[in-house]
Order: sequence, then structure tokens, then C-alpha cells
Amino acid sequence: MPRAVVTGGAGFLGSHLCRRLLGEGWEVVCLDSLVTGSPTNLEEIPEQGRFTFRSVDVTHPLEVAGEVDWVFHLASPASPPDYLRLPIETLRVGALGTYSALDLALAKGASLFLSSTSEVYGDPLVHPQPESYWGNVNPIGPRSVYDEAKRYAEATTFAYNRVHGIPIKVVRIFNTYGPRMRRADGRAIPNFIDQALHGDPVTVHGDGSQTRSLCYVDDLIEGFWRFLSSGGTGPMNLGNPEESTILELAKLVADLAGSGAEVEFLERPMDDPEVRKPDITLARRELGWAPEVDLRDGLKRTIDWARPRWS
Ligand code: UDP
Repeated sequence: MPRAVVTGGAGFLGSHLCRRLLGEGWEVVCLDSLVTGSPTNLEEIPEQGRFTFRSVDVTHPLEVAGEVDWVFHLASPASPPDYLRLPIETLRVGALGTYSALDLALAKGASLFLSSTSEVYGDPLVHPQPESYWGNVNPIGPRSVYDEAKRYAEATTFAYNRVHGIPIKVVRIFNTYGPRMRRADGRAIPNFIDQALHGDPVTVHGDGSQTRSLCYVDDLIEGFWRFLSSGGTGPMNLGNPEESTILELAKLVADLAGSGAEVEFLERPMDDPEVRKPDITLARRELGWAPEVDLRDGLKRTIDWARPRWS
């Protein structure tokens, strides 16, 4: 049975990945500092016998006993308010945390899976964004702590692949939503859901004409799974190319949550990308993958999950 180490396994995506790997019969060691992840994301895992959780800061060298086949490096604050509040931690986990994950993989003869981000494209001048686009990132702006950390993590991962021959897979994840997002995480979807469930105004930054393309978490994890058994290293975009404006999304969430919520317009954060939409030609061709969950359906599922927990 394959054995995986998942850094950031108590986070939103990490907890979905751990569950999927366990469901596929794998053994999983989850490492998380819990700075933004939560043990509640790991409750009611049926395969407890094959699952271990350790509260660990992955910026320090990692020691894991026994064989390891895959190291999945997902650990990082990922929502803009989190990485703006934790700038040094975010840079450290993208840099030192990536060395820890790669050195563990090297020591164990394992492969490395890096979760990178559409943020490597910054405020993109090419639309939609293919993997071949090098991006438009402000290296000293407030968001640079995340964008540059992930760019550095990609560079480090590819360097280990070239120098040490470590098998690698790098995914660039576009905006993803679903159950187990953190309440008040600060991202658009959890904010809108939380506000709508409480009958509060939905807070839209700027005039809401900026766009995002939202992928339901189960689709994303299916993409991860297919990528694992494919031949390439990536980087591979994974996301849903269905693009909406933030104002449309805010109104849709309010509508689906059954609130007549008003819209409150707030100031736009600095360097907030104007548009974002993945070109998924590579994933379609190499993985035969495309998202299947429609936006309304995915939002309904997420609201149904959040309603009893956040109300
Ligand atoms: N946003 C918003 N209201 C909120 C939270 C976010 O209008 O309460 C905007 C944010 O400024 C950005 C977009 O929604 O333009 C997506 O933000 P999010 O934090 O979800 O993710 P990002 O794509 O910026 O990483």
C-alpha cells in the first residue's frame, strides 16, 4: 500500500486530499502546524488505522519513520487575509518548508507533489492563463509574500528534479471552494456564505467587476489523483474555466443561501488581480480531466454544509 506524507493536511485542500488517499487504500501521515488548518477538518476519518496526524512546523527538517512513497507539500497560509497577517511565515513555508519536503522525499526515495497556485501569474496580462505564461507579479507588494514564495517553491522543486532526479508533480491551483473552507477565512466564497447565512450584507471589494473562476473541491482532488498517475511533471493548471465577476458571485451566493442580502462595496485590496481563468488544455489532454460540478450545484452543496455549522 502506498504511503504518503501530506504537509498542510489539516487545511481545506489538505484534508480533502488526505481523505481521498485514504479512500484509495493509502496510508497517510499528515503534518500541520495548525496555524491556519484545524483538527476539526480531520474528524470522522473512517480509515483511522491508516492515518496519523502530527502537529509539526514543516519549516524545520522533517523526520518521518518508515517508508514514504509520496510527499505532498500543501502547507501554506492560502487566503489573502491569512498571508497578509502571516507574511514571514508564508515566505518561510514556501522556501524552508519546500526544502524540508524535498529533503524528506530525497531521503526516502519518494516523489514530491507541490501545490502551487494561479497566483504565480500575478495580475495577469494574458487571459486565460496557460502554464507557459510567466506571470505579472509585483515582487515587493503585499501579496508578494505568497506569490513569490510559491514561485520560489516551484523553482526549488524543479531544481531538485534536475539536480537529484527526484520525480515531481507541480499543480497550479486556481480558486477552489467547498465544504471545510474556514469560516471567516477572508476569501470571497466563505465570506459571502457566512454573511448571507446571517442576513448581513455581502462585502464586495471595488465595484466587483474583477473576475475569478471557481472550481469545486471534489473536481480539483480528482485532478490531483489523475495527475499522480500521469507521466508529466507539470506545472499543470487545475481549475474551472467558468469565469464570473465577483459581484455576480456575491449575488448568486446570497440568492442560493436564501438571504435578500444587500451588497456592501468596500475598498479593493492592493494588487488584487483583475481577472483569473485557467487554460486547462494541458489537463484535458494529459489527464482527460475537466471539472464536472456546476457552479450553482457546488455552491448549494457548500452552503448546505456551512448552514448548520456557521449559522
Ligand atoms: N473579495 C470580495 N469580498 C470579500 C472577499 C474577497 O469582493 O469579502 C474579492 C477579492 O478582493 C478578490 C476576489 O474577491 O477580488 C477573490 O478573492 P479571494 O480572497 O477569494 O481569492 P483570491 O483570488 O484573491 O486569492
